[in-house]
Amino acid sequence: MRRPLTVGVLLAALALAAGAQSPPVPSLQFEIDALDRSADPCADFYRYACGNWLAHNPVPPDRSLWSRYSQMVNLNQQRLTALLQRAAQPRPGRSAEEQKIGDYYASCMDAAGIEAKGLAPLQPELARIAAVQSRPQLIAEIAHLNTLGVNVPFDFYPDQDMKDSTKVIAFVDQGGLGMANPERYTDPGPEAAALRQKYLEHLKREFALLGDASADADAAAHAVMRLETALAEVSWTRVQRRDREKQYHVLTPAQLAALTPHFSWKQYFGGVGLARVQVINVNVPGFLQEFDSLLAAASLQDWKSYLRWHLVHVATPALPAAYVEEAFDFEGKTLSGLAQPPSRAQRCQDLVDRDLGEAEGKLYVETYFPESSRQEVLRLVGLLRQALREDMQTLPWMTEATRRQALAKLEAIGVKIGHPEKWRDYSSLRIVRGDALGNSLRSLSFEFRRQLAKLGTPVQRGEFYELPQSIEGYHDNPLNEIVFTAGILQPPFFDPRMDDAVNFGIAGGVIGHELTHAFDDQGRKWDGQGNLRDWWTPEDAAQYQQRAQCFVDQYSQYTAVDDLKVNGQLTLGENIADNGGLHLAYLALLAGLAGKDLPAIDGFTPQQRFFLAWGQIRCANVTEARARSLARTDPHSPGRWRVNGVVSNMPEFAKAFHCPGGSPMVRKEPCRIW
Ligand SMILES: [Zn+2]
Repeated sequence: MRRPLTVGVLLAALALAAGAQSPPVPSLQFEIDALDRSADPCADFYRYACGNWLAHNPVPPDRSLWSRYSQMVNLNQQRLTALLQRAAQPRPGRSAEEQKIGDYYASCMDAAGIEAKGLAPLQPELARIAAVQSRPQLIAEIAHLNTLGVNVPFDFYPDQDMKDSTKVIAFVDQGGLGMANPERYTDPGPEAAALRQKYLEHLKREFALLGDASADADAAAHAVMRLETALAEVSWTRVQRRDREKQYHVLTPAQLAALTPHFSWKQYFGGVGLARVQVINVNVPGFLQEFDSLLAAASLQDWKSYLRWHLVHVATPALPAAYVEEAFDFEGKTLSGLAQPPSRAQRCQDLVDRDLGEAEGKLYVETYFPESSRQEVLRLVGLLRQALREDMQTLPWMTEATRRQALAKLEAIGVKIGHPEKWRDYSSLRIVRGDALGNSLRSLSFEFRRQLAKLGTPVQRGEFYELPQSIEGYHDNPLNEIVFTAGILQPPFFDPRMDDAVNFGIAGGVIGHELTHAFDDQGRKWDGQGNLRDWWTPEDAAQYQQRAQCFVDQYSQYTAVDDLKVNGQLTLGENIADNGGLHLAYLALLAGLAGKDLPAIDGFTPQQRFFLAWGQIRCANVTEARARSLARTDPHSPGRWRVNGVVSNMPEFAKAFHCPGGSPMVRKEPCRIW
């Protein structure tokens, strides 16, 4: 299930551009050789920790950024490709699941087979739309397409009730736009107008590919544009969508029916296979009302064009090259600014992730994430939680009432490490070698039914919302849990071969970072059970704000690139989490050492290796243009300041590296919240 919330994706904005040529990465680990011994750690610790790595890892010519994280992503992709290629080879001893993944992947990779079939596999679905003669049939067809993952003209899904975290209820939300973001339809500026013109041309070409004569394709494209524009005009913008409280409208079926007199929800629910629905959250009631009037006012022909377009849009990845290229031309090039399409192998890997992700994840975990690693990370999490518990008990700025609730929320934080305890059962999903489109549609239908089965049941706390093989770490407020996937718990991020100092400096720092997100200006709006409820007193909020200002002032002084400064306000939440996280990890390391003095390794004490590890995971070379764009949009500070900003607030760092007072890495009045 999608979680329509912004989770604190940890190393965000450093992802790879699709289609870029990746230098092969054989293996990764913490490397003492990455540092530049000629630099002064007390003057610029980032340069000291990363200097040699930066000198030897320039940005590849087809990219704008190259980092330790890019290397991890790269290596992970190579591993997954190898797993899929192996699974695709028929051989004795393949498990049923491996065969499923292999057959799916092989069907998707079979370009010649897909080309030879042309549009034939989609014809039965197109014929259903063509046969629609009345509005009740239109509603039935909308329901049918929803079950195939064609989520239009609204978005229907089950999710946790925002104010009763024990229940899963139905949500009907705005959606149904080919260009996703409603502002693209309504922005009066010349850039958006040009984009709309390109979208219209793209739609015309799509309808021509489906076999429409030129005049028909033109009319169909305009019909789609009219319907989507009308829906976009009543959709909320991204900024409006940030307010979750305003999207809480739980209605009974009778209230829902009154909101949309022309749309029979009874028929719709029956069509998607739901016998009884008790309550429905309507995120944006005005959107549904507009949809309802369009249903009555727009012609059946217009609606059928609209459905055809969205069906082909969903089916595209499993269709012949002409469809894939047309889609990339608009969505890849025009909308996302990508120069090259992803390779077929990459696309097919993405589809396996989408459709058989946990089966693939199981293979990945068997190969790359032993149970011993999981236990070790759980130990780290336990020590980090203990460090935060002790910190909270003594924080000078929190009132007693809030402290009690904070401690209760901390105890309630769920922990998911690596992979789900119980793997998803794909046995009822039929995968046929050579039937790429059928596999895709059956998988989407399987997923729709899996989601629907959650309605009316308690929230399943065991489910993983990210794939084990993905590279993710975050805290989620509605579930109040931290999640670290097996994909991120790989060297150098977490390395069972390394000493505690290194693992606490990287994985520990980031686990601490995510734990503190549960208590920041977003986290405090949710209680320990995951209900939307602000439990801070105004006094605590004011104290927090005052301390936060220290970080705003600190980071605003840093230069992002040339004349452009870091935006201390934009990066505030992440800077607080970085500072809190590393401080907690340091306390946890000391607790883990329990007074023992570990020997130096490569001439560095455990304390020094801890800080070097934190520095090294942030090594990144960035082009000037990318640095500028990141400085404007990325809520994370540039790597240099994620390192120097944090260590210069820690007296423990000055002590570890014997930095005299007055050094650039020793702030006179350190900022501190956690
Ligand atoms: Zn974060």
